[in-house]
Amino acid sequence: MSTSNLAKSDIVYCRGEKFRLYLDRETIANRVAELGARISADYEGRVPVLIGVLNGSFMFLADLLRSIEIECEVDFLKLSSYGASKISSGVVRELKKIDADIEGRDVIIVEDIVDTGLSMQFIVDRISEDNPSSVRTATLLHKHEATRVESQLDYVGFRIKNLFVIGYGLDYGQLARNLDQIYILDGEEPQ
Ligand code: 5GP
Repeated sequence: MSTSNLAKSDIVYCRGEKFRLYLDRETIANRVAELGARISADYEGRVPVLIGVLNGSFMFLADLLRSIEIECEVDFLKLSSYGASKISSGVVRELKKIDADIEGRDVIIVEDIVDTGLSMQFIVDRISEDNPSSVRTATLLHKHEATRVESQLDYVGFRIKNLFVIGYGLDYGQLARNLDQIYILDGEEPQ
């Protein structure tokens, strides 16, 4: 059974495993709109550069941008991924660098999820080398119990338990990113 056939369902199957609905589209949309409103207020009179971390953040970033009512720019960087595993490898590499000149700019790094925190720390350190005037971070999801490296998280959509999640940009072996809601492995307990 493919994920796309069941995209509007409470249960989806991906790579032979069963996932069930965790955050529905309305819950996600409301929270993303709140984050967009906060960013609009916090950066009024400035033009921040939002840097999306590929691949997982593209859907969150697209919705977040549409709810931001001030001028802003967008760029992307890409890190090495987990592959088809559900567990963080702890090894982070940069695969695509940003194109924007961010020296003296207000930067907001946009992640899909912070798990161990290693990726976010790597990105903040990497971006800071280019001398932006400020760096803040936004993440849709934060697995606070799994976080080993505490980086500053300024805009957090949802604090979630240490569960493997898919959908809304988040993949399982590159599949399931197109689901418009967020699902957890069946059998794992929601918070
Ligand atoms: P960290 O470096 O914080 O351990 O991991 C961050 C990255 O791991 C995220 O950008 C995401 O790509 C991936 N990741 C962490 N947890 C999950 C999860 O539950 N589901 C999916 N699909 N990816 C995850």
